[in-house]
Amino acid sequence: IKIEIVRYQAKSLDNSFRENYFEPVSLVFENNFCCNCGYCSSICPVGSITVTADDLKIDSETCIKCGLCFSVCPRSFPSEHIFTVLNKLNPNLKDGAASNYYINAYTASTKSDEIKEVCQDGGIVTTLLYYLLKEKEIDAAIAVTHSEDIWRPKPIIIENVDDLYKTAGTKYANSPSLTILNEAQKFDKIAVVGSPCMMLALKKGSIYPIGTSIFNNIKYTIGLFCMESFSYDNVINISTEIFNKKLENILKMDISGGKFIVKDKNGEEAKVPLKEVTSLARDVCHYCSDLTSEFADIS
Ligand code: SF4
Ligand code: SF4
Ligand code: SF4
Repeated sequence: IKIEIVRYQAKSLDNSFRENYFEPVSLVFENNFCCNCGYCSSICPVGSITVTADDLKIDSETCIKCGLCFSVCPRSFPSEHIFTVLNKLNPNLKDGAASNYYINAYTASTKSDEIKEVCQDGGIVTTLLYYLLKEKEIDAAIAVTHSEDIWRPKPIIIENVDDLYKTAGTKYANSPSLTILNEAQKFDKIAVVGSPCMMLALKKGSIYPIGTSIFNNIKYTIGLFCMESFSYDNVINISTEIFNKKLENILKMDISGGKFIVKDKNGEEAKVPLKEVTSLARDVCHYCSDLTSEFADIS
C-alpha cells in the first residue's frame, strides 16, 4: 500500500517534474558511484533493476519513475547526518568519535571448535548467526557463500545452522547481497550480514521515503569491517600476478597490519604491503567513508 502511495504521487505530477525529481538510480551507476549493494533491485516495485557484482541495468520500458530506488540508494544523496543527530539525542548511546555512536564495545572470539575451523578471525559473525538461528530469534539470514567459481561470492539465504558454515570466512570480491531481500520476504524475521555500504543502504531505507522500512522483517543487521573490495577478475589477478598462486589453491585471504595476506592449501603464507593491491580495488571503494559499519545494529 505504501509503495502505491509513492507511485501515485509520482504519477500525479506533470512529466517535466517527474523527469527531474523521480529519476531512477541510473545516475548513480553511470557516474561510477554505485557500490552494487543490490538494494535498489529489491525495492523496485516493478522489478526494473538488475544488479550483479559489477553491473546495473534498468529497463526503461517498465520503469515508472517512482524514484523509490534513488531515495534509498546509499550513494544517491547523503543521509548519514540524520542518523548522527538522532544518535546524539539517544541517551542510551555513547559517542565513539571515530566509530560513531554505540551501546557497548567488546573484544571477543568464538568458543565453538567447528566455527574456529572455518572462521576468518574471531568467528563472531558466524557465532552470532548460530545463536540467532538456534534460539529462533530469526528464521533465516542473508549472507555470502562461494559460488561454483571458487572465491566468486554469491548471496545466500541460510535457514539452518548446518548451512551456516558455508558462509564463514571473508570473500574479497564484492557480492550484491541485498538483491535477495525480496526472496527473503517469505520469512518473518531475518538477519542481514553485509559490508558498511549495505548497512547504510538498509539504514537509509528505514527512513526514506516513507519513515519506515519496506522490508520490515529485518530484525538484525550485522555489519562487517571493510576497507575495500575487488572485482572477481582482480581477485584472480591478485592471486596469480601478485602472489603467483592459482586461485583454486588459495585457502584464505586476509588484510591485517597493513598487509594483504594469502595462505595456500599447502599451509604456505605470503604477504605484500596493502598498497600493492589497493590500486586493484573497485573505484567506488575509494569513495567510502565507513570502515566499521557504523549504521549496523552490530558491527
Ligand atoms: S542501491 Fe546500491 S546497487 Fe543500487 S544504485 Fe545504489 S549503490 Fe548501486
Ligand atoms: S520503477 Fe521506481 S524503483 Fe524501479 S527503477 Fe524506476 S524509479 Fe527506480
Ligand atoms: S569499501 Fe565501502 S563501498 Fe567498498 S565494499 Fe567496502 S563498504 Fe562497500
